[in-house]
Amino acid sequence: MSGRRKPDWLKMRPPSGERFTDIKETLRENDLHTVCEEASCPNLGECWSGRNGPGTATFMLMGDRCSRGCNFCDVKTGGMEALDPEEPANVAESVAEIGLDYVVLTSVDRDDLDDQGAGHFAQTIREIKDRDPGILVEVLIPDFQGEEDLVRKIIDADPDVIAHNVETVERRQFPVRDRRAGYEQSLQVLDQVNRESDIYTKTSVMLGVGEYDHEVYQTLGDLREVGVDVVTLGQYLQPSRSHLDVEDYVHPQKFETWRRVAEEEFDFLYCASGPMVRSSYKAGELFVDAVLR
Ligand code: SF4
Ligand code: SF4
Repeated sequence: MSGRRKPDWLKMRPPSGERFTDIKETLRENDLHTVCEEASCPNLGECWSGRNGPGTATFMLMGDRCSRGCNFCDVKTGGMEALDPEEPANVAESVAEIGLDYVVLTSVDRDDLDDQGAGHFAQTIREIKDRDPGILVEVLIPDFQGEEDLVRKIIDADPDVIAHNVETVERRQFPVRDRRAGYEQSLQVLDQVNRESDIYTKTSVMLGVGEYDHEVYQTLGDLREVGVDVVTLGQYLQPSRSHLDVEDYVHPQKFETWRRVAEEEFDFLYCASGPMVRSSYKAGELFVDAVLR
């Protein structure tokens, strides 16, 4: 354990640069919002600029209110609104206009909708690929309550990467996640994608929520067993005092050790691991490096 006072390595640098300003302007013109900005993500400068490869931005679909309430997450719960039928086309237009090569689509959970939003997600993937089949699309999807038909809608839209987060080790799923989620259910979603397609799969695990090392190790093994290709490990940061406490600030060297374990021992295609790493951290650059080069 490395202590609970926020250490120096978590200090943020504000994003800047021409590319950053261009993207911001286009988003405002189209009234679109990215997770990168809404969550004040510390990686914004690095991700959007894509210094060594494709730039990445993450779009949040289906509103800013979630039907679930996870204890680590800052998204508002309840008060669900109708879907905007124009959203898939608007997102696709913006992606084309900005000239992104790699886009991440994610969403709130929409347990309130008949298909939990799977069709809307799939439609957005298609709109983007129709405009430019060369754009790489990664989707970070909900568990769709484990309904295979809904996961299949996403598979059928043929994105390049399907991500679904297990978030933490099995023992800490609760209190970390909403009760409707679960370790086994999340593994099943990833397993289904691997069984039914050649699409790359990816997941994220937060550290610092009270997990033990042997449990992280076990989780890496469980993920490989269902064929997950890519894993990211990052530090949990408490969004407000009413959210789950941080149990531990994990040292950057330990993140580096986990990266080596994941890549060398468990043979993940790649592992992004570091205090500031988030699920979509430099996703374009790292994917192209690991898969296409
Ligand atoms: Fe946040 Fe996702 Fe949990 Fe909703 S389901 S509260 S968006 S982590
Ligand atoms: Fe955006 Fe994800 Fe990068 Fe953060 S890590 S800036 S949310 S693409």
